[in-house]
Amino acid sequence: MNILRKVKTQLETPRDERPLGSGWLSGSLALLASIAGFLIVMLRWFPETFSYPEIAFIQDSGIVTIFLRFVLLSGYALALLSLILSQRKSLGWTALAISVVASLMATTQPEVGDAPQSLYFGLDYFIINVLVVGFLFVPLERFFPARSEQTVFRAEWQEDMFYYLVSSMLVQVLGFLTLAPSNYVNAQADLDAVRATIVALPFWLQVVIIMMATDFVQYWVHRAFHTFPVLWRFHAIHHSTKKMDWLAGARMHLIEIAVLRSLTALPMFTLGFKPEAIQGYLLIVYFYSSFIHANIGWKLGFLERFFVTPRFHHWHHGSDRAAIDINYASHFPIYDWLFGTHHLPETEWPEAYGVVGNTVPRGYWKQFIYPFTKPKPEDPPQMPGE
Ligand SMILES: [Zn+2]
Ligand SMILES: [Zn+2]
Repeated sequence: MNILRKVKTQLETPRDERPLGSGWLSGSLALLASIAGFLIVMLRWFPETFSYPEIAFIQDSGIVTIFLRFVLLSGYALALLSLILSQRKSLGWTALAISVVASLMATTQPEVGDAPQSLYFGLDYFIINVLVVGFLFVPLERFFPARSEQTVFRAEWQEDMFYYLVSSMLVQVLGFLTLAPSNYVNAQADLDAVRATIVALPFWLQVVIIMMATDFVQYWVHRAFHTFPVLWRFHAIHHSTKKMDWLAGARMHLIEIAVLRSLTALPMFTLGFKPEAIQGYLLIVYFYSSFIHANIGWKLGFLERFFVTPRFHHWHHGSDRAAIDINYASHFPIYDWLFGTHHLPETEWPEAYGVVGNTVPRGYWKQFIYPFTKPKPEDPPQMPGE
């Protein structure tokens, strides 16, 4: 795995050691293109294993074939450019090798039969997530950074990418868990009158009501995760990130994802909103949750009073004394105003991020078992407010 380590080292080159023309950018893009191409080919080879039904069009769409060729050709061209420009060749060679393997596999793709669609690993969902969200936020963070010294491949980026992968792969399991409490409420309560009122409202108003209602629940669930020590040990994982960007929000314990999502989704799935309004809300949240974690330094003026912005949520992640147990809302700061937890200085950003005392271990699996382990006696107090 020596080559992997070399590739990683080359990707993490500090910005001042890789000026334009050093072959770093072309090498990184080549690696991205070759991996994307390889994964698309894998999806086509093993449709029944990797595919998520909603995006099964990857299997037999002509547009995807053209896209795949474009991606693989870009991978070749950029890898060659990087090999010419760069002193270090690991990125270029790796990207080239993956492109070659992917191209060979693409030309010998087996016939797609009527394979049983029993297992969806959601790998394609992950690829589309990373491509769509990454391609949107990486340039924004590059051109409007809150912290200009921070790079895309900052410390622990691969851990957070793994979190992103796991939650994308488990999208169906998590979806099922998310619906469980709502299904229960739907079976128990008679909400027909409320539903008749809500379904008659205009689309945009339904979306706004969903946002208000989910954020109200989210506020209190989030606050509970900060208040009760047992819950805090789960939520501390989300707070353990020391670098904030679009990927950082993905770091969240699976138990917390299940609890948080299923409770915040309760009003959405029980009050009779139209499916289009629910989809509209989910689309907004999909980008909004990456946005509030992103390393984007936009000065949003009066908008900061009405909507949660990166600076508002970055304060929530701050490790300064002033940044403890504040700004729980994820859409509307008004909830923090109302319940006395609002904190947003004029223009400043927090000094640093992370958990007080640095008690959370590094790495996915260590973090996975962390909430189930006993606090060490020498650990500083677990609660952020103590
Ligand atoms: Zn929190
Ligand atoms: Zn967060």
